[in-house]
Amino acid sequence: MAGTRTIPSPIVSVENAAFWNAAKQGRFIIPTCGACGKVHWYPRAICPFCAGEKIEWRPASGQGTIYTYSVMRRAKEPYAIAYVTLAEGPTMMTNIVDCDFDALRIGQPVTVVFKDTENGPPVPMFKPL
Ligand SMILES: [Zn+2]
Repeated sequence: MAGTRTIPSPIVSVENAAFWNAAKQGRFIIPTCGACGKVHWYPRAICPFCAGEKIEWRPASGQGTIYTYSVMRRAKEPYAIAYVTLAEGPTMMTNIVDCDFDALRIGQPVTVVFKDTENGPPVPMFKPL
């Protein structure tokens, strides 16, 4: 179990400010195109599927599966970096936390958990169900 690693603050931009504001309240939202209805990640001002400019933020389930992962064992405080495919479709780069890294496997179901950062908003990470 790793739990003392200091997590750097995320970079907040115009495109993702809504996401981080929701994160501060423990809400996990993802950008959805108002034109084609597709969900995407990371946050962008223009839909990557249809170039639509009307992006809406919708609550996400917080559920996903591990697409691939790698455990950084040489770090002072080992951590697991992963791509998690959200139940809503898109895949996001994140960390897997609060678990035994040796027990991780591809395809494993995970759920979102917000982790505090140095001095910015909390970041979404995932833990096995
Ligand atoms: Zn679109």
